[in-house]
Amino acid sequence: MPKRRFLETIRQTMPAVVGVAVVGGVVVGGGAIGAQVAQQKPARAAPAASPASAAKAPAATQRLPGYNADRNAYFGDLHVHTYLSNDAYIFNVRRTPDDAYRFAKGEAIGHAAGFDVRLQGGPLDFVAVTDHAEYMGVIREAADPVNPLSKLPFSKGLMSPDLNEIQRAFRAYGQARRDGTLPAEFNDPAIVSRAWREVQDAAARNYAPGRFTTFVGYEFTSGLEGRNLHRNVIFQTANVPSLPYSTSDSNDPEDLWRKMDAWRAKGVEALAIPHNSNGSDGLMFDGSRMSGRPLDRAYAEMRARNEPLVEISQTKGTSEAHPSLSPNDEWANFEIMESYIGAEKPITKFDGGYVRRALEDGILHRQKLGVNPFKLGFVGGSDTHNAAPGSVEEPNYFSKAGLSDATPERRGSIPAKGARTWGDDESAAAGGRYKTWGASGLAGIWAEENSRGALYAALRRRETFATSGPRIKVRFFAGYDLPADLLTRTDTVRQAYAHGVPMGGDLLASKGRAPSFLVWAVRDPRGGYLQRAQVVKGWIENGQAKEKVFDVACSDGLKVGANSRCGDNGATVNLKTCEPDRFKGDVELRTVWKDPEFNPRQRAFYYVRVLENPSCRWSTWDALRNGTPPNPNLQPTIMERAWSSPIWFEPTA
Ligand SMILES: [Zn+2]
Ligand SMILES: [Zn+2]
Repeated sequence: MPKRRFLETIRQTMPAVVGVAVVGGVVVGGGAIGAQVAQQKPARAAPAASPASAAKAPAATQRLPGYNADRNAYFGDLHVHTYLSNDAYIFNVRRTPDDAYRFAKGEAIGHAAGFDVRLQGGPLDFVAVTDHAEYMGVIREAADPVNPLSKLPFSKGLMSPDLNEIQRAFRAYGQARRDGTLPAEFNDPAIVSRAWREVQDAAARNYAPGRFTTFVGYEFTSGLEGRNLHRNVIFQTANVPSLPYSTSDSNDPEDLWRKMDAWRAKGVEALAIPHNSNGSDGLMFDGSRMSGRPLDRAYAEMRARNEPLVEISQTKGTSEAHPSLSPNDEWANFEIMESYIGAEKPITKFDGGYVRRALEDGILHRQKLGVNPFKLGFVGGSDTHNAAPGSVEEPNYFSKAGLSDATPERRGSIPAKGARTWGDDESAAAGGRYKTWGASGLAGIWAEENSRGALYAALRRRETFATSGPRIKVRFFAGYDLPADLLTRTDTVRQAYAHGVPMGGDLLASKGRAPSFLVWAVRDPRGGYLQRAQVVKGWIENGQAKEKVFDVACSDGLKVGANSRCGDNGATVNLKTCEPDRFKGDVELRTVWKDPEFNPRQRAFYYVRVLENPSCRWSTWDALRNGTPPNPNLQPTIMERAWSSPIWFEPTA
């Protein structure tokens, strides 16, 4: 029997009695992913490893409706801003944390521009409201005419509905915050304390175990000369510090992690999720620290302890892979944003800003330092500043910055001033960087039940996945002894847990044997059909980052060719109607795959990417509704997708 770390990290307190599985989402296709009836006795529990030990699964007596020992897929958003974020307030957003939770539960809320917005895809399962910690709530208070803050000269113009004034105020506020020249009155800790209380109260009010989970959280809005180093901090329970630790305390993420370590020592458990590494100009996963010193083992341990996940896709672009770093990946060019996040300044350094390369560099650091600082599972998030979690639906897109990008014209998807066609220069300039933003992403979590305890434990063990918006479910396991009839059994998932490690885990070496991988994806019943499932592999060879994309399961009965690619299924979209090809693609893709190039002496990571057939991009939907052609400078269609967290092959413990 090979030594398997997953027994330590995955098998937490597993109950001896298992009920009938209930599925959160709609079950489609021949195999109900995550929906199999659990009848067998699960494996004996083993002690959990640190730091996951802080996040134990609930005891059997506390089991909730919907409990499933084989784990359900839950969809949600861990990146949500409300009127408590000062940029959102400047964008005229007046919606509260309670409004954000109402939206996530499927209700309509009012948009800053006056219309109602609502999720088409139905309620989400979990949400964290993550307002910017810095001066949280101050402009909301300054907007109150009886508050003395409203009389300050700086406050004038911060609440204007005029678009030019909004741009001016956004820049002025951001500059003053970075320069430390905001009015001293803004610095009153009582202001942040009131806002932080509001965040906590809304999370408590809206938490409905078994149906809807809230997390207390906030954004640590760090950067270096505009190079983005933002993180969201997510707390395990309602036990949180009296004030968030923000860049008003320190701009260096290392200081945040040190503070998180100190909280943990006092029983306050949290993790941080970096985002928009694409806007960091190579800094997020750089080989040196903010102080300029090189990475060392203590740094790698502290980072890995506090940041088990990365937000791989959001409205401001997807950070999985960049075409210049992954020239042999035909699908790397997906919702790429190549500018700084708060300005039009172009990115010049992609290495260090994209997650796949960071995973490769992580292996290199592991070889040198003994610890991998970039062992990152994946989630997606919207980064909505409209208090609208999960508002990443292509046909139902209203972007994310209140009045600033509220209309198709403002986000560059229709010609300006009522024109019916695009002028030569007009399309390139239209909408500025808003047109390069994408309707993405969403977080998926595999957990036994919908509770803070179960979902947080899954975040800690990285049993998470990301999507570009659709609620695609993806399973991924690796093991040496997966049963030969795994795909045709009724207990596929139970067997995979018993004989393998799930996404997010480590697979240790086993006497030179090659592992098998279970890859299983089911489409979003309201989304497109699936075209192919891929395994992305990365490793280090002679000190160089290497990667390869393998197609492993093809739709429409097609086969993987010698080039590791599926045959073309020929799926198209009617751009006059945005109607996709109804007769191409599959409801479900599943296979057991073996790496034909497996090297038992080589560290490697593997993750799954599932691609839908092409469908209309949000900008094409906007143009269609306007009766005008899509902006010729934008891709008219995209291939929606899901990414599993990686599994790491570790030749030595
Ligand atoms: Zn941010
Ligand atoms: Zn944000």
